Amino acid sequence: MARVLFFVLLAFAWNGMTAQAGDQDEPKTVKISDSIFMAPVGGNVYMVTTSEGNVIIDTGLSATAPEARKLLTAENHGLTRYIILTHGHADHIGGISLWREPGTSIIAQRNYIEFVNYTTRLEGFFAPRNAAVFGHQRDVGPWAGNFGAKIDPTIFFDQQYEFTLGGVKFELFSTPGETPDHLTVWIPEYKTAFIGDNYDGVGIPEPKSFPNIYPLRGSEPRWALDWIKSIDKVLSLKPEVVLSGHGDPIYGNEEITRRLTRFRDAIQYVHDETVKGMNDGKDVYTLMQEIKLPASYDLTESFGKVSWSVRGIYEGYAGWFDTNPSTMYELPPSAVYTDLVELAGGPDPVTKLALEKLKAGNPVEALHLTDVVLTYDNKNIAALNARLQTLNYLKEHCTNYNESGWLDFGIKKAKESLAPK
Ligand SMILES: [Zn+2]
Repeated sequence: MARVLFFVLLAFAWNGMTAQAGDQDEPKTVKISDSIFMAPVGGNVYMVTTSEGNVIIDTGLSATAPEARKLLTAENHGLTRYIILTHGHADHIGGISLWREPGTSIIAQRNYIEFVNYTTRLEGFFAPRNAAVFGHQRDVGPWAGNFGAKIDPTIFFDQQYEFTLGGVKFELFSTPGETPDHLTVWIPEYKTAFIGDNYDGVGIPEPKSFPNIYPLRGSEPRWALDWIKSIDKVLSLKPEVVLSGHGDPIYGNEEITRRLTRFRDAIQYVHDETVKGMNDGKDVYTLMQEIKLPASYDLTESFGKVSWSVRGIYEGYAGWFDTNPSTMYELPPSAVYTDLVELAGGPDPVTKLALEKLKAGNPVEALHLTDVVLTYDNKNIAALNARLQTLNYLKEHCTNYNESGWLDFGIKKAKESLAPK
């Protein structure tokens, strides 16, 4: 249940994104061709019809899956012969039970097993973080700890798998990226590729954002080089139609190549610059500040952020230790904040400095200073107000969806401390 909530929230994130494009209407079936239909319901659900029954690609979120089923069965009532899961996020696997019939085969890439076990194992960690950033009520524990997820697929493959149904050949490839279990479905006859969520930022209205290589809500490393290789695999198929887990179809090989190449090259650039900086002995914060995506890539940072990705890649490769002996030990820098506040003459001068920093256009320094004061006294009204002012300033200047969610969370916490129930 908690895992479901986790991805309900993720899907809300996407709804928020698509809403920006003015897409507030009731979902309607999108007819891609005579035999491919898409139900865009917080995670696209696809139906491929054949003379021997249907193939369902992704099943949506459990909350919205019935809507997808209603839309798609209005187009075709054929038997569900296969369900293919592009990956194990719950906005793709929530409707399996609605489509499964006796004899339905369910296919996933083999890493699906560990991936869904991992999200289930850590649901007590993930649920409140997702509730925080997406502004929802957190699910209720207690969390059971290390236990297994329900595994629905009946067929697993490592690199490649293919089958033919009603004369239509389906080729499946392992294409790790956003998750380690990602797969791509390729139908050569229709020159159509279903790529799951490996193309982030889809649907706003042209995908323009750098991907979420490191999601702040927490994730295993999303390996940049795997992701690049997977995009290359899709490009090598020379598709005329690319269908994603969210957002609109992309038509025409020229347009597909333009968008996917730009996306791949941007990931490659950030990866390579990070590796270069690591080998030059630069620390992670220096690289987070230095590495900027050249304007020629023409991508925004409305969903993923380059600086977070730099840190994700850096620490994905090297872990957390930064060679400073101070950081080897259990005590964090905040262990001496209280002493520093006393040395400064109490909380007031530090709060004053925070506000001066904010006024001078250094809101992150201001935020750090409020951390210092609030470690000394977490109910300090002046410091809480300075913090609230700083967070509101950051929020006003924020253009990134995820950053905005965490700023809202900080604002909410500061307000709660100022007006305790
Ligand atoms: Zn998704």
